[in-house]
Amino acid sequence: MQEGGKLPSCLIYNAIVLSEPKLLHMNKNTIGFFALLSLCALQTNAQAVLSKDKKEVIANLEKKKDHYGDVSKQIWDFAEVGYKEVKSSAILIDELKKEGFTMEEGVAGIPTAFVATYGKGKPVISILAEYDALPGMAQEAVPEKKVISGQKAGHACGHHLFGTGSVAAAIAVKDWLKQNGNTGTIKLMGCPAEEGGSGKVYMVREGVFKDSDVVLHWHPGDRNSANPASALANISAKFRFHGVSAHAAGAPERGRSGLDGVEAMDYMVNMMREHVPQDTRIHYVITRGGEAPNVVPAFAEVYYYARHHNRDVLRGIWDRIMEAAKGAAMGTGTKLEVEIIGGTYDLLPIESLAKVMHTNLDAVGGLKYSQEEIAFAEKIISTLPASTETKPKYTDAEQVAPFSTKLESMGGSTDVGDVSWAVPTVGLATATWVPGTPAHSWQAVAAGGTEIGKKGMMVASKTLALTAIDLFKDPALIEKAKTDWQKARGADFKYNALLGERKPALDYRN
Ligand SMILES: [Zn+2]
Repeated sequence: MQEGGKLPSCLIYNAIVLSEPKLLHMNKNTIGFFALLSLCALQTNAQAVLSKDKKEVIANLEKKKDHYGDVSKQIWDFAEVGYKEVKSSAILIDELKKEGFTMEEGVAGIPTAFVATYGKGKPVISILAEYDALPGMAQEAVPEKKVISGQKAGHACGHHLFGTGSVAAAIAVKDWLKQNGNTGTIKLMGCPAEEGGSGKVYMVREGVFKDSDVVLHWHPGDRNSANPASALANISAKFRFHGVSAHAAGAPERGRSGLDGVEAMDYMVNMMREHVPQDTRIHYVITRGGEAPNVVPAFAEVYYYARHHNRDVLRGIWDRIMEAAKGAAMGTGTKLEVEIIGGTYDLLPIESLAKVMHTNLDAVGGLKYSQEEIAFAEKIISTLPASTETKPKYTDAEQVAPFSTKLESMGGSTDVGDVSWAVPTVGLATATWVPGTPAHSWQAVAAGGTEIGKKGMMVASKTLALTAIDLFKDPALIEKAKTDWQKARGADFKYNALLGERKPALDYRN
């Protein structure tokens, strides 16, 4: 049932006994007895803290792990990018409908966004699901770089697992509500286009989370952790420079280059890096740069992201990037058009909720690899670039990171940020990837398509379900979370989406 787990303190005691018998004045027989006792404790310790109904929830999820593994693999195969997740959302909707959830599809003006609801009355606990893939990341489920020919995208952020694992958890909670005759509502929020599309922002703006008391989420990763974490606020836009085409050698004086506009902007923004707070992140790709060197490009486009943990600081940095773009257009005689694509808030962590999540993750435990998976993992680890950190070990996936109140900051951003300022929100990460694997890498796509990904996903499903059950059973936990959240958010908080009033950028991946 349980797939390994963090070393309980009894095993540490056991290790002391075996290594330093003199310290404890024991003979070999006594040592053997304690060793046996400790090993027994290892088997039962984590699960022993669980109530009977929670153990049943875990057992039921475990029974359906192959089914959910298949669902996730199908979404991995579909590899649909943001707002194009037609088949991926349909398969999850189908799972939820079969289980008696009421469906609301096409919410917030987004065809692939949905809300699934089961139960009645308060509290309302919502679980987030994502299912979009990343362009240019097609990769087979093998431990060497091997692109799937003809496929344009891949699940390099594990959202096929995110979506399926969350749906599995919502169904498990529904079964628990039903079997125990509890009141309360479980919702599964189908959230498209997390990767740059800011799907949840439109859902927040539309009030989709209005009646939720607590929101739960998770994310695939290379370790198991439920510590309070933050993320960077983010604004993104496409800057389009319109010029005039002409023969690049025959009549260059008659042309105005859109690419000059892009390059002038990039140059200025790159100089700006020296004069922004150190923890700022700015990155871009030139998405259109002209077609042929002998034609002055009449059109060019650059796609920018800027991030900072403080969204007010970010707004200031963004204003300066806008000025650089305007200056570039002016200097190159081109016309500038800007389309804000995305904008997400930083993540607001709630320590009291993180503790509840951590306790459940600890009880569920990490995952244990089979011999075949060990071989896969070792090959993957050998492909990871050397880093200054200690070399990862595949056994790290068996551990659960100890709880820490020191706020961890994800290097990335997420539209869960906006949700966390609308409702108290808590999340976890599980080791769906081989330890040491960064997100958005071919190694992440590869492991996500194997049993390793599926095992990590089930750790998340179980932890989410158990955490929801705690919240249903103990209203005081929700009250405490709300008080902490109100305090952290501040009395004068007013929500203003960083992407403004724009409509969902349904074609941002075109
Ligand atoms: Zn992601």
